Amino acid sequence: MAEGGDWKERFSRQIVLPQLGEEGQLALGRATVVIVGAGGLGSTSAETLARMGLGHVRVIDPDVVELSNLHRVRAYGDSDVGRPKVQVLAERLTGLIEGATIEPVRQRLVPGNALELLSGADVVLDGLDNMEDRYLVNDACLELDLPWVYGGVVATGGLVAPFMPGGPCLRCLFPEPPAEGALPTTATAGIHPSLPALVSSVQVAQASRIVLGQEGSASLLAMDMWSDDWRVVDLSRRQDCPACVGGRRDFLKGA
Ligand SMILES: [Zn+2]
Repeated sequence: MAEGGDWKERFSRQIVLPQLGEEGQLALGRATVVIVGAGGLGSTSAETLARMGLGHVRVIDPDVVELSNLHRVRAYGDSDVGRPKVQVLAERLTGLIEGATIEPVRQRLVPGNALELLSGADVVLDGLDNMEDRYLVNDACLELDLPWVYGGVVATGGLVAPFMPGGPCLRCLFPEPPAEGALPTTATAGIHPSLPALVSSVQVAQASRIVLGQEGSASLLAMDMWSDDWRVVDLSRRQDCPACVGGRRDFLKGA
C-alpha cells in the first residue's frame, strides 16, 4: 500500500494512537499474519487485519461455507454456501479494502505442510474449531520460534492466550489433548453469534501488540458473555512440559 496522503488519511484514526504512530503503522504494513481457520474467528480476524493495513494475511482452511455458519460469520452470505471459505474471503476483502493482501490457502493444516504454511509469519492466529489441530499449531510454532494467539469459542464462553517464544505454550496450559468427543463443540453446545467477533477482537489486539513488540505478560483471558464472568489467569512454563521444555514435537510427527 502506498504511503502517501491517502495512506495517512486512511489510517489517521489509528496512527494517532500513541501505541502505533506512523512507525507502528509502517510496521503493521511490513508484517505477515497467518490465520489457521476461516470460520467465525478467522474470517473476522482477517477482515480487521486487512482494514488496519496489515501487510500480508495468509488464511488456511479446507472447508466450504455451510448454511449453519451464516448466523455468526459476517464474511459469508447465502450466495456463498458451498464455495470455499478462503476463496470467498479473499474475494470479499480484496474487493472491499484497497491494498488488502489476502492469500487464500485451501488446505487443512497437517504435519506434512504445517512448517511450510506457517513459516514467514510474524504471528499466527488460531481460528480453529478443534483442539487436535491446535496442538499441531503449537508444535509448529515452537519449531519455527513463532508467537501464536490461541482463541476458542463455544456456547457463550471464550478463551484467548498469546503464546510467545521462550514463554509457556499450549501444553503448559493443557498438557494433553482431550479425548475425542470430550469437549463441547459448536455443533453440540451451540454458539452465541456475537461471541466470535468478541474473541477475534482480543486476538487481533494481541497480534498487533506482538507485531509492535508491546506484548504483555503470559496470561489466559477466560470470558463468558452470559454470566459476566471474565477473568485473567497468569500463565507460566511447566518445568515438565514435553513440548516447550522437553523439546518433543509429538503432533508434528510425520512431517
Ligand atoms: Zn510448554
